[in-house]
Amino acid sequence: MHAVAVFPADKRIEVIDDHPEPKLERDTEVLVDMLEIGVCGTDREIARFEYGMPPEGQRHLVLGHESLGRVARTGSAVTRVKPGDLVVTMVRRPCPHETCRACRAGRSDFCFTGDFKERGIKQLHGFMTERVVDDQQYMHVVPASLRAVGVLVEPLTIAEKALIEVWDVQERLPWTAAGSGDGRGQHAVVLGAGPVGLLGALALLLRGFEVWVYSRGAGDSDGAKWVTSAGARYLSSQQFTAAQIAEQIGNIDLVYEATGAAKVSFQMLEVLGTNGVFVFTGVPGRRGPSECEEDLLMRNMVLKNQLVFGTVNAGPDAFANAVEDLASFHTRWPEQLGSLITGRHELPAAIELLTGPPHGLKNVVSFDR
Ligand SMILES: [Zn+2]
Ligand SMILES: [Zn+2]
Repeated sequence: MHAVAVFPADKRIEVIDDHPEPKLERDTEVLVDMLEIGVCGTDREIARFEYGMPPEGQRHLVLGHESLGRVARTGSAVTRVKPGDLVVTMVRRPCPHETCRACRAGRSDFCFTGDFKERGIKQLHGFMTERVVDDQQYMHVVPASLRAVGVLVEPLTIAEKALIEVWDVQERLPWTAAGSGDGRGQHAVVLGAGPVGLLGALALLLRGFEVWVYSRGAGDSDGAKWVTSAGARYLSSQQFTAAQIAEQIGNIDLVYEATGAAKVSFQMLEVLGTNGVFVFTGVPGRRGPSECEEDLLMRNMVLKNQLVFGTVNAGPDAFANAVEDLASFHTRWPEQLGSLITGRHELPAAIELLTGPPHGLKNVVSFDR
């Protein structure tokens, strides 16, 4: 089969045509025809050989972790999916250690040891190929009506896991109707206007938050127009400092960071409101020490009851919520949702998407089936 593969030891990336056809080996496994595979910053890092690890004993890693596929065949014990179903397959697989309580509890997204594997990233081949096999337990069915946008489920799970945790921690505030998922009357700032940020903004709007997206693009950029059309407000960092936007917004109850830029994130942390929660999702590069207002940050955290947490990967609950939310987005914001996918490309074009200058929002590799 054709597949997009990196050869880290040779610093080479190419479309190969001899990737072995996957076979159903256990009766709980499912054969999936790939439909679409999203390209994101992680893939581009792997394509620059900064990250990414082939399966043991192999020289290459097939890329791709954001996927939408259609079930072709199922093992005899499969009950979760049936042929013809659209499915999104989860990315991370548990570590082998008996002592890892997270993985043993089915929550490899909280793995203690770091010895998990990830399809398309770490020691397991990814989805940028024609067909894949995986166990049914890692698959989530997507309604047929979401055929055009289902590839966005995986990037949306980042916000979904964050929100599950936000409700958990905000149960500490007795008047917020604990765990209700109701953000009405609360002010949320999304940092960054890439796919992760914009999908997060929709998830927050859906729950009733008032949402401001703070990003680099100018106030009249396409991103800004997108944000406004969805019902959020856009603030350009070219125009406003974090302190200025806090003045406009009032108490900032939640910050959802989706930039991977530490400096602007810590500037925003300085203006987080009373009882506020700050969620980090980005992974910055290492640039060496820099100035940070540690006294101010510590004072605020204590005197304002603030909570700061980071989140990575996602569990089955976040995937289920992502499928459900994507259906709601599709009903409420059909145009905005569709326009997040700015390019559909055949498999060979993936090399340019992965190694060329970044463009558009979400580019996907698409199989015509
Ligand atoms: Zn990704
Ligand atoms: Zn583990």
